[in-house]
Order: sequence, then C-alpha cells, then structure tokens
Amino acid sequence: MELSRSRQQLAHQEIVAAFEADTLEYKSGVACKKGCVFCCTDAGAIDITTLEGVIIRSRIESLPRPRKVALIKALAKDRSRREKGQVMTCPFLLKNKSCMIYDIRPFSCRRIYSLNTCDRNSPPTLNRNYMAKAGQTIADFQKLDDNGYSGHISYILHMLEAPKFLSIYLAGEFKPEEIAAFGKSHKIAIHRFIHTSKKQNSGSSDNSNIFESENQCK
Ligand code: SF4
Repeated sequence: MELSRSRQQLAHQEIVAAFEADTLEYKSGVACKKGCVFCCTDAGAIDITTLEGVIIRSRIESLPRPRKVALIKALAKDRSRREKGQVMTCPFLLKNKSCMIYDIRPFSCRRIYSLNTCDRNSPPTLNRNYMAKAGQTIADFQKLDDNGYSGHISYILHMLEAPKFLSIYLAGEFKPEEIAAFGKSHKIAIHRFIHTSKKQNSGSSDNSNIFESENQCK
C-alpha cells in the first residue's frame, strides 16, 4: 500500500540519517569546511526530487514573512536567469555563507564532499565507495516515491506552487505529458527520477544532475 505523505517524509528522513551514519568513515580528512560555499555558488545545478521539494516548501511556508518574500523573489530571479542561460548563487545561501535549509538540504548537496579543496579548475574528488552508497540512497528515494520527478530546485519548487501539478503529484499520479508542457514553457528538463550505476561509481562528481532520466520531460 502506498505510504501516506507524512509517513513518506519520515521514511525519507530515515534514509538520509542511515546514509549519514553509513558514510561517516569516509568523511575524516575531507577538505570541506564551514564557510566554503563552492558547491552553492560554482559547482553547477542543484537538483531535487519532488519529495524533497514538498519538505523544503513546507519549511519555506514556516519562515517569517519578510524572509519568505525575499526567498520567493530570489527563486523567481534564479529561474529567470537560468532561462537566459545565466547561473546564479543558490537562493538558499545566506549572506553569512550558511545554508538557510541546511538540516533538510537536498541530497544533491548533502552527498557532495571533497578530498581536495575545490576551485574552478579542480572539481570535488569523492571516494568511490562513498559514491556507491550515495547511489544506493538515490535508489531508496526512488522506491519511496516512484511517481516523483526531479529537476532544478527553483523549478521543482515552482511546479509545486502550481495547484494542478501539486494535486497530480499528491494524488500519486504520474503524468509526464503535463510536466513536459511545464518544462517546455520554461526551456528546462524535468525528469522522472531514476539513478544509474555508471555515474554513481565514477569516483568523482561535477555536482550536476544526480538523477538520470528514463522519461525526460522537456
Ligand atoms: S540548498 Fe543549501 S547547501 Fe544546497 S546549494 Fe543551496 S545553499 Fe548550498
């Protein structure tokens, strides 16, 4: 039987906690430190799943009004710039270089750490076994929400604001043609999320789309 949405969110938290516990051994000696925001500013697109979007959306709803309004504007600006082919810093990055949603940050952010200090010429280097565990975690997310989608954080959150899409998703229906129309109007690709073992085992990452498309909805 399909899990209720609240049970699904709880199960999502449990999968994330298990990933953190299972990968602790790989995190000693990493170059990542507080205040380094290369992943949030330079490393590429931050993709999320619709389930993550629902969790983040509910956090946005709970923010004080001025911060919520500023964030919604920043997300809209991000979408507008991306449609012109420009990249901007993640809208969730605060001026003090911390993440506004750190405890519930997307898995595409959470799974990235690096054994070397990153810059534009040196992408993050990750342990191969760690990446395999990240891949398994993505597979677990998919099993949990097999009717979900993935795409850039600004667009998934925007889609969840659309009553039509939200009702389709919350009802557990899968209508890629509806999503395709949305994607086309914004010149973006939204995927039915599915992981591939090829990328998981690569041993390094460009922090780009972690969810490969089986049914790409452009
Ligand atoms: S969600 Fe948070 S951790 Fe992820 S890119 Fe944005 S600011 Fe950085």
